[in-house]
Formats: sequence, C-alpha cells, structure tokens
Amino acid sequence: MEKKKVIIIGAGPAGLTAAANLLNHGHEAVLLERTVFPRVVVGESLLPSSMEHYELLGFMEPLKAANFAVKPGVRFIKYGRNYDFSFSEQFTDGWHYTWQVPRADFDQIMADVVTEKGGDIRFGATVTAIQTEPQVKVVYEQNGQLTEVTGDFLIDSSGFGCVVPQLLGHEVLKGQYPNWAVFTHVKDEFRHNFPEPERISFDILETDLWFWMIPFSNGNTSLGFAGNKRHFENIEGDATEYFREKLKQSERFYDRFKDCEILFQPHWYKGYSQSSSVMYGKNWVLCGNCAEFLDPVFSSGVALATSSSMKATETLLKQFAGEEADWEEYKAYMEQGIGVFRSYVDHWYDGKLQDIFFGGVLNTTFKEQICSVLAGYVWDHNNPFVRRPEKGILSLHKVVELSQLT
Ligand SMILES: Cc1cc2nc3c(=O)[nH]c(=O)nc-3n(C[C@H](O)[C@H](O)[C@H](O)COP(=O)(O)OP(=O)(O)OC[C@H]3O[C@@H](n4cnc5c(N)ncnc54)[C@H](O)[C@@H]3O)c2cc1C
Repeated sequence: MEKKKVIIIGAGPAGLTAAANLLNHGHEAVLLERTVFPRVVVGESLLPSSMEHYELLGFMEPLKAANFAVKPGVRFIKYGRNYDFSFSEQFTDGWHYTWQVPRADFDQIMADVVTEKGGDIRFGATVTAIQTEPQVKVVYEQNGQLTEVTGDFLIDSSGFGCVVPQLLGHEVLKGQYPNWAVFTHVKDEFRHNFPEPERISFDILETDLWFWMIPFSNGNTSLGFAGNKRHFENIEGDATEYFREKLKQSERFYDRFKDCEILFQPHWYKGYSQSSSVMYGKNWVLCGNCAEFLDPVFSSGVALATSSSMKATETLLKQFAGEEADWEEYKAYMEQGIGVFRSYVDHWYDGKLQDIFFGGVLNTTFKEQICSVLAGYVWDHNNPFVRRPEKGILSLHKVVELSQLT
C-alpha cells in the first residue's frame, strides 16, 4: 500500500489518537501544535469507553505506568446527599474504570508514544493558512518563521481553535448552552483529613450550576465551577480571589479546600459549547472538540474526541486503500454519539435528570443502562437509554412526578 502523509492540526487526545492509528497502519503523520508541552489544559476526568482506544493504539502501558488516580465511577451530590454510579455495574460490557488525569502529563505521555511510533510533532507551531485542494498545503508560524508543509489529507483536531472551519469560512456556532466555566488546580494537602480523598465528585450547587473536584495521584486536585453564566458575576478583579470566594458555595468541600494553595491563575471558559456546521470536505475532516463540544457535565469530551478520531481514521484508511470511504457515515456516527449526550445535557440543566438521580426511582436495570451512557458507551443500540434517550429520561421523570403525588 502506498504510504500517505497526513497533516494533523492540534496534539490533544483527538490529534494524537488519529496520528497513532495512521502510524500503526504505515502512514506518515505530521502534527502541528500551537503550544509547547507540557501545558495545562482542561478535560481531566476520563470515561471508560476511551480506554479501549488507548489499549488498541499502544498508549495503555505507559499510561498505566503513570499511576493516575483510578476513577471507578462518578458521584453526584445534591441536597447534601450522594448519588453514585459505579462503572462495574453497567449494562454494556465495557471497561469498569478509567482515570483522573492532569492533562499536562497525560497528553505528554500520548505525544511521546506518537513520537516513538515515528510521528513528527512540531510544537510551538501555529497554523495560519491552509489549502485543501488539489493538494493539502498548510502554513504554520513557529519562532517567527512561516513554513509550508504539504500532504495527502488534513485532520483538524485543533479543539477550540477550529482552524479549518475558520479558515474555510464555515460557520462555527458558539454558546448554544449559555454556560461558562472557571477552573484551577490546588495543592490538596489536607485531603487525608477527609473521607474518600481520591473520590471524584460533582457537587450540584443549583440546578444550573455545579462544582467539580477531580483529585489526582500527584497530590493536587482540579477544582472548577460550570453552569449558566448568570452565576458568574463581578469577575473583573483578581481571578484567584474570585475563585477562593466562589469556593464558599460548595458546603461539602469548602473546608477541604479553603486553605489550599491555588496553583495557577484560574482559567475562564466563556460560552464553551461549539459546533461546526460542516464536518468534512475534500481531503479534510474535523475530529474532537473542533467538530462539536457540548458541556463538561458528563466528562464526555475526551471520549468523544478519541471516538471521533478512531472512526475518522478508519474511514481514511479505507480511502487510502482505494475502498469506498463513506464520510457521511462518519458524520452520522458522531451525530449519534453526541446526540445521546445532548439529551442528557439538556435534561441535566432543566433539572429532570437530577430529579431522576435523587428521586429514588432508579431500579438496578435502569441505573445500569444510564451508567453505561455515563461511561461513554453511546453507540450500544441494545441499551434503550442510547436508542431513545429522550423517551427514557422523560418516562423516568414522569415516574418521579407520580411518586411525588403519593
Ligand atoms: C470547562 C471544561 C471542562 C472540561 N472537562 C472535561 C472532563 O472532565 N473530561 C473530558 O473528557 N473532557 C472535558 N472537557 C472537554 C475537553 O477539554 C476536550 O473535549 C478535549 O480536550 C478534546 O480534545 P481535542 O483533542 O479535541 O482538543 P484539545 O485537547 O483542546 O486539543 C486541541 C489542540 O489544538 C491546538 N491548537 C489550537 N489551535 C491551533 C492552531 N491554530 N495551530 C496549531 N495547534 C492549534 C491546541 O493548542 C490544543 O493543544 C472540558 C471542557 C471544558 C471547557
């Protein structure tokens, strides 16, 4: 088979997954990454479904060796009560755990694997111009110099950069959800004074505002607030002071974190949801966040990123082999997975899903089926909560309402 050269914009999980799959099949990958690793990036709570991809592509051993904190499930907290999903009790036959990862370390490990496989990662390289036909040409700026690189295909996995849609003039819808977020890391030095110190938790502060705490095995913890922008007021001053003040809203966790050192100026994400109107074209495709990003509440971003890159590169490998490559199927596949999460996000913020979790109506079967969605298995059509997510959620919500009548 003829060796092809693929240019990949962005070396996050989407770009590195795509690169690894192409390199494993004997093709060339040139990755252009704006930042220099290691770099802080949000997206630290993984989902079990992405573990399959790490295993399949050869990332698993070095990732395991990093001893990341194990995430065996997910805990939501409301009205002072916990509601736990355990990934070992789920409908789909999948992974029972995943990890909580500082992305600086996680992405670096993935990047090292890609380099070992022969991938050419150019750090500090910001893509500024592209041509997709008749041949792919990409111009990037690195250390004040412009360089052109040519290839057979272009994968845009630039996350919020949305490079290809912007440069080709395709519309990128921003802020479909009116949500913002702010996050930082703290030195979690008092964690052992508290029960289950490494347990990841989502504290629901209001129906449309929640707080995350994602403890890492390195002794630090990621803390963040996400929700409707109306909950983020008077943010002009010092972001660290703002964050410390905001911590008071989490009754459950304030004591643990109030005196912790804040490790970097909190990062803001204003109107983070985004969706590109066109997902592929001649000689190019979008993967990961760049195609669509909904909301972090179910930690679906990295899993959708690796799933999209697996599917896109499978399609591309067919194209390279001279077989029929159905890019509409790629698009439909992504719309399916994202569509399932969209229902859950919609009904999270209208409160229905929270009513279901805390309404005492979930029997074991329903709970396991929903757990598989939360684990990222959103293509398992045997699961009724995947096949018809709206119907599943609304029916269960009716049960909650009925139970409140009696
Ligand atoms: C507040 C918030 C919390 C989140 N929490 C979670 C979570 O807990 N779990 C989860 O799974 N997901 C979470 N996410 C989503 C997660 O961050 C992303 O889904 C994930 O990082 C997507 O990976 P990616 O490879 O598509 O993009 P990214 O990881 O963003 O990588 C894109 C890369 O492209 C590079 N780039 C951009 N522009 C250019 C350019 N012009 N030239 C060259 N390179 C460029 C960037 O530097 C970056 O490294 C969260 C998102 C937000 C906003």
